[in-house]
Amino acid sequence: MSAGYRVVVQKDYLKFSAAHFIAYKGFREPLHGHNYQVSVAISGAVGADGYVLDFGIVKRATRAVCEELDERVLVPERSDCLTVVREGPSVVLTYEDGARFLFPEADCVLLPIVHASAEELAAYVLSRLRAELDPHAVRGLAEIEVGVSEAPGQAAYCRAAL
Ligand code: ZN
Repeated sequence: MSAGYRVVVQKDYLKFSAAHFIAYKGFREPLHGHNYQVSVAISGAVGADGYVLDFGIVKRATRAVCEELDERVLVPERSDCLTVVREGPSVVLTYEDGARFLFPEADCVLLPIVHASAEELAAYVLSRLRAELDPHAVRGLAEIEVGVSEAPGQAAYCRAAL
């Protein structure tokens, strides 16, 4: 029987503070913020060097994504109830009832997601990390799981094969 291995990176500095609101047809939250924490678990075979994968690679890649999201408004560009338009140096979000938000573009991050929920943010971070880990596929990495918590004890996880 072969053993299964999993490495988990969960660091205080793997965090981002951001503004968001959940919006779907018929419902919109008020704009508010969270101090998000990100965790990453990777399973796979142990290589000749004794690692599944060097923790440093996972930490660096995750930290880079957190920095992109930190102190930004998280804009779900694929929303089915918000229109997202760039107007000069601004991003304008208009909800289906006509409510409008205008932010400086530099204060926003436009994400290829439908809702700015912890679940979809976890899927987004996962997609970014997956691309970063691609060169290491040769190591026999099996699966990645990304957790995004909005508050202590309140997290969503997204898992995918590598
Ligand atoms: Zn929230």
